[in-house]
Amino acid sequence: MKNSKNPDNPVSYSRRSFLRASQATVAALSAAPMLGGAKDILAATVPSGSTKAHPDYYDKLGVTKLINAAGTYTDLTSAVMPPLVREAVAQAALHPVHLAELQQKAGEYIAQKLQTEGCCISCGAASAITLATAASVMAANNCQSGDIPSKIGTPEFPKNEVVVQKIHHYEYDVAMHLCGIKFVDVVTMDDYKQALGPNTVMTQYFNACDDVGISREDWIAAAHEKGVPCHLDAAADMPPISNLWKYTGMGFDLVSFSGGKDIRGPQNAGLLLGKKKYTDLAQRNSCPVDSSVGRGMKVAKEQIVGMVAAVDWLLSQTDEGMEKESRDRMAVIVKMVKDIPTVKTSIMMPEVANHVPHLMINFDPDAIGASARELRVRLRTATPCIELNPHTGSKRPSQGVPAQPNALVVTTFLLNPGEEEVIGRQIRKVLKNPKSVGVYPPPPRLAAI
Ligand SMILES: *Cc1c(COP(=O)(O)O)cnc(C)c1O
Repeated sequence: MKNSKNPDNPVSYSRRSFLRASQATVAALSAAPMLGGAKDILAATVPSGSTKAHPDYYDKLGVTKLINAAGTYTDLTSAVMPPLVREAVAQAALHPVHLAELQQKAGEYIAQKLQTEGCCISCGAASAITLATAASVMAANNCQSGDIPSKIGTPEFPKNEVVVQKIHHYEYDVAMHLCGIKFVDVVTMDDYKQALGPNTVMTQYFNACDDVGISREDWIAAAHEKGVPCHLDAAADMPPISNLWKYTGMGFDLVSFSGGKDIRGPQNAGLLLGKKKYTDLAQRNSCPVDSSVGRGMKVAKEQIVGMVAAVDWLLSQTDEGMEKESRDRMAVIVKMVKDIPTVKTSIMMPEVANHVPHLMINFDPDAIGASARELRVRLRTATPCIELNPHTGSKRPSQGVPAQPNALVVTTFLLNPGEEEVIGRQIRKVLKNPKSVGVYPPPPRLAAI
């Protein structure tokens, strides 16, 4: 942060020491022995306390670092990994291993921790959806990974139908299309039972869809009567932590989670959990199988280990503890803005996806002199750059958050220590005098965000 050099700013000092601590890990990596006896190399660890200065490549590249008060949005690079996970990633970078052995043992470890039979570590939830589809296509057709997608839907391998509720179509449909499938849409339970036929390979269910339609239980029961596996996309649907085993326990054969959202693993990692028969087939459709649809969705050893460490980290947390941390940080922000005329604050939690506290800072735009949308842009274009939740100023409810035309929406679960005070101070400033913070309209580079 540019303003972390401001000596009048005590908060930025705590940020600086925090950042220094994380830089030490990276610096230590560069100090690890690169040459020398094999024994030295194999013994290489990540020593702590190194003081060697290391370039900050964001600064070197002129890339703006931001404070994430939005949430686990992919275009904001989602969550930062907790220190335990960062250290595991750095440690894994020190040694080559056999990829298949790492995939197998890491998958078994996570499956056992998350109370299911099997786990394939994917390159994010979107790739977990592709691998789930590929596994189902392979199981139904008894084909090889190299047959997907080119031979699927041909007389040789005719089984290619994925059954889905019409209301559950979404942008990630393309992750399934990659496998050469076609969708069969249903509305009623009767439609659904009829649609489950000899060419069905899988059913697809979008967990966080605003309208559930056919219940999860009825959905699973009808598919299982015909021996069809059910996939659930629950990418952003943790917390509560128990969701990581709730849906597989309910009977979904395959459940996709994003690793880089609230689980706080690497952004390019995800989990496909469920029946071992299918997670094993999913693995056979991924790197290093060169002829597989997942070959381009490589998960490197650092991300695999990071995902394991993230699961360990998460299971050392409690839902109550994480929620309290969010609410304590919100209390700091509320205290700094609540005396501003017309401002009213409240906290809501979406039911399914992103089930974390959202702070709503409501105000009268006429009294303040700017709309919520304008204030969001002003906070983004100021230094430090603060990204508010995209529901800020929204005119329509979405993802379980009501319309908030006159509110700033703030989440605090992804903050680095001390950032809540920076946010409180900047929001106070922009509410008291909008033109004193950032620019509006935004410059072209930021206009499209
Ligand atoms: C975020 C998200 C995904 C994609 O997750 P990645 O880990 O970024 O690949 C898929 N489905 C839903 C519902 C999501 O919210």
